[in-house]
Amino acid sequence: MKTEENYSLLAHNTFGIEARCRLFAEYETPDELAAFLRQESDPSLLAPRSLPLAPCPLPLTHSPVLHIGGGSNLLLLGDYDGLVLHSAIRSIEELPAEDDGTVMLRVGAGVVWDDLVTYTLEHGWYGLENLSLIPGEVGASAVQNIGAYGAEAKDFIVAVECMNLQTQERRVFTNADCQYAYRQSLFKTPEERGRWAVLYVTYRLSRTFTPRLDYGGIRAELERQGISPDGLTALQLRNAIVAIRRAKLPDPKVEGNAGSFFMNPVVPREVYEALALRYPDMPHYDVGLHEVKIPAGWLIEQCGWKGRSLGPAGVHARQALVLVNRGGATGQDIVNLCDAICRDVREQFGIQLCPEANFVGGKG
Ligand SMILES: Cc1cc2nc3c(=O)[nH]c(=O)nc-3n(C[C@H](O)[C@H](O)[C@H](O)COP(=O)(O)OP(=O)(O)OC[C@H]3O[C@@H](n4cnc5c(N)ncnc54)[C@H](O)[C@@H]3O)c2cc1C
Repeated sequence: MKTEENYSLLAHNTFGIEARCRLFAEYETPDELAAFLRQESDPSLLAPRSLPLAPCPLPLTHSPVLHIGGGSNLLLLGDYDGLVLHSAIRSIEELPAEDDGTVMLRVGAGVVWDDLVTYTLEHGWYGLENLSLIPGEVGASAVQNIGAYGAEAKDFIVAVECMNLQTQERRVFTNADCQYAYRQSLFKTPEERGRWAVLYVTYRLSRTFTPRLDYGGIRAELERQGISPDGLTALQLRNAIVAIRRAKLPDPKVEGNAGSFFMNPVVPREVYEALALRYPDMPHYDVGLHEVKIPAGWLIEQCGWKGRSLGPAGVHARQALVLVNRGGATGQDIVNLCDAICRDVREQFGIQLCPEANFVGGKG
């Protein structure tokens, strides 16, 4: 077990924000975590308290314990006056399959997500290829329900094994228990947020490659690379998605960011139809019969924010959904930019944007 007091989280958040936590602890096994939590002698670290308010109606944790993964969807608002946990459970175990066509993998929460994607493709196990190169770790894939290019983690998750951080009780959540929706899960609800450490995630993958190509310019990229969709391999598909992502998204090592900062708003159909009269070119996607999803990036771009900065925080020039740290930004600088964008989108379109990034704040 690695523990350190007054620990810098700079290397643990892709926004590149300097903030410290009171205590950092990294565990390698569930038993190690349970023993540590039982022994933790400072009750203020484990007693419930509230955290500062975020600019939008966000579900906020009431736990003084923050479990992080790779920190690629966190916005640190200041020093964290509590315990930060990180999993170093990095096992990948093949479980008995349900049938000849599938494979079941039980994966430690600390495995780097893209390493898992690579590992599965090397073994001829398919499904995760469209989720290539998403930063972060396996534990967060189950919390965030990560998604890209027409696939979501929930399509493959069978079970999520967790530990209650207050009681050390272990519990297995089925896919249905997790209440998955677009970038949402049970673990992000106000009631459950901050309550569970994800220990292992079990995924069901296929032994047959079924390419999904009709999303986000995949076909155009394959054509650019001179690859025909007939006879396409999963590795070629992964490489195409990696190329698209590298061209579109800023590398956090070069310019700090947390990927898509905002969720795409889903509005009632009548709201969309009224807006479409004023903005006939507004892109949109039907969500069932009664709701429509509008790309947040388009709304932000229409408000003139694409490529602009506010202090050391900015909006990426190629992808308006991504807020970036132009150098030395604090969490508050990013919040100020977020507030300004939300205000403009609200005034112009009457739509409230909500951050996808998890706000994590200082003093309780
Ligand atoms: C350049 C870039 C591109 C991105 N592209 C995408 C994309 O295409 N699709 C997408 O969905 N996301 C994307 N993201 C966002 C991010 O990669 C995902 O949200 C990812 O799942 C975060 O993983 P993480 O391990 O870094 O989690 P963190 O950011 O550390 O944490 C995220 C949340 O999960 C919780 N958590 C993490 N691990 C555990 C655990 N073991 N137990 C309990 N709770 C835990 C945290 O408390 C927090 O609430 C992108 C981010 C970046 C920087």
